[in-house]
Amino acid sequence: MSVSVYNGPALARYGFGQGHPFGPDRLGAFWRYAVSQGLDRRVEVRAPVAAGREALLRFHTPAYVDRVMTRSAAGTGYLDAGDTPAYPGIYEAACVVVGTVLDAVDVIMRGDTDAALVPIAGLHHARRDSAAGFCVFNDCGVAIETLRAVYGIRRVAYVDIDAHHGDGVYYAFESDPALIFADLHEDGRYLYPGTGAADETGQGAAQGTKLNIPMAPRSTDEDFLRAWPAVEHHLERFEPEFILLQCGADSIAGDPITDLCYTPDAHRHAAARLRSLAGRCCAGRLLALGGGGYNRDNLAAAWTAVAEALLG
Ligand SMILES: [Zn+2]
Repeated sequence: MSVSVYNGPALARYGFGQGHPFGPDRLGAFWRYAVSQGLDRRVEVRAPVAAGREALLRFHTPAYVDRVMTRSAAGTGYLDAGDTPAYPGIYEAACVVVGTVLDAVDVIMRGDTDAALVPIAGLHHARRDSAAGFCVFNDCGVAIETLRAVYGIRRVAYVDIDAHHGDGVYYAFESDPALIFADLHEDGRYLYPGTGAADETGQGAAQGTKLNIPMAPRSTDEDFLRAWPAVEHHLERFEPEFILLQCGADSIAGDPITDLCYTPDAHRHAAARLRSLAGRCCAGRLLALGGGGYNRDNLAAAWTAVAEALLG
């Protein structure tokens, strides 16, 4: 099994300033720990790549892409109602997140690597026409549209174990039966963005292709393991051709902005089980995206556990 992990200063740059929960120090925190565990000697380390405008437009509206460019050049104000500030160069930094994810898609589809992890990625709140919750461009959404437009893949599975509901992905594909969605998140009655109720299962022809599992605040690994098999059954029903895993580390106990209490073992379990499922149904094609996680020790341990699980 060959696994690629992305690292480099251009990818670290996506962040909202030192001291911010989503600061530019997150990638370094992960990488230092990963190296201490010898991960860099077991995976292929790949460099970040910037996406061009045409790639963004596979998911985002031209007016929104223009707005991010303008605010990035000005370097002030917000890209949404007040969660996601603009800073000089945020457009370029966000293009690197998307471009790196698309590079990972490409090396997986070419068969140059079996599975990959992009640590700073999985920006699942961004909508087609707006930023939200620290997410400027939705790399998950761009990856899904790119798999279809460029590689002829139809059925993509998106699995999300971040503490927050992946609303930007869910609502963009709510009526799309070919996007198989499974999301375990802290119950929206207690946490941003407030969505992802169990009865949100998709619209119209897509009814039943989406699985939302709200978890009670303070849920543990035991609760996670009890809920998890439903995710596997859901994916197996629809035989995906490619699997995306948003493995946000903010679902681990001790995160400063959420209330779930998993350990990195939950992330290891999800990645290991999806690796096995990908091996059975889609030639091993599995791409993990780091997602949230605001406690540096937690994100370092969780993402390292995911990469180790991908290695098998
Ligand atoms: Zn999150």
